[in-house]
Amino acid sequence: MAEIEFRDSPKKIRVGKIVCLGRNYAEHVREMHAETPETPVLFLKPPTAILHDGGRVVKPPISRELHYEVEMVVVIGKEGRHISREHALNHVAGYAVGLDMTLRDLQSEAKKKGLPWSVAKGFDTSAPVSKVVEKEKVPSPQNLDLALRVNGTLRQHSNTRNMIFGIDEIIAFISSVFTLEEGDLIFTGTPEGVGEVVSGDQLEAELESVGRLSVGIA
Ligand code: MG
Repeated sequence: MAEIEFRDSPKKIRVGKIVCLGRNYAEHVREMHAETPETPVLFLKPPTAILHDGGRVVKPPISRELHYEVEMVVVIGKEGRHISREHALNHVAGYAVGLDMTLRDLQSEAKKKGLPWSVAKGFDTSAPVSKVVEKEKVPSPQNLDLALRVNGTLRQHSNTRNMIFGIDEIIAFISSVFTLEEGDLIFTGTPEGVGEVVSGDQLEAELESVGRLSVGIA
């Protein structure tokens, strides 16, 4: 059973479903030669995909190409469905920084064939996530610097203000399809600069006001 801890409190919550957005930063849409979506592109990871700070991402043997994607993670604290944009932030417990680890070779093949992304996106250790910071300590979630370093070199750097769909819009949209429950996580999409990592690499993700997440590649 996957749980996540809060940074400055003894609180822990059980992780529910992990809802992820694709194509939520314009520059990333461009680098993937994709089209800007009119509504959020969603996919799911199972809770067994969670990896904590200090852990190691393990690429399954069926893939040859593991990519990183740094993302802001929204942690749901209160159940709701058909949540309005106006009330969306009332359902948030806090924020974390995460990595949407992706088997890019399998994802590209799935895209070509019109097949689902479950294997490419949902394998064990595909969802490294930091401790959660309570929302009260993050006054401007839609204006936070987001960065990723691989072996100390900056590879991704953007700001959550560059999201195509903002946090309130994302929660409203997701909850029109899936009931959101306490412990559900939302991976809000990655900015430009995604790339490959190999065995032995060290990744450090950072989100302003939230903190850092360090993981290695097994
Ligand atoms: Mg992603």
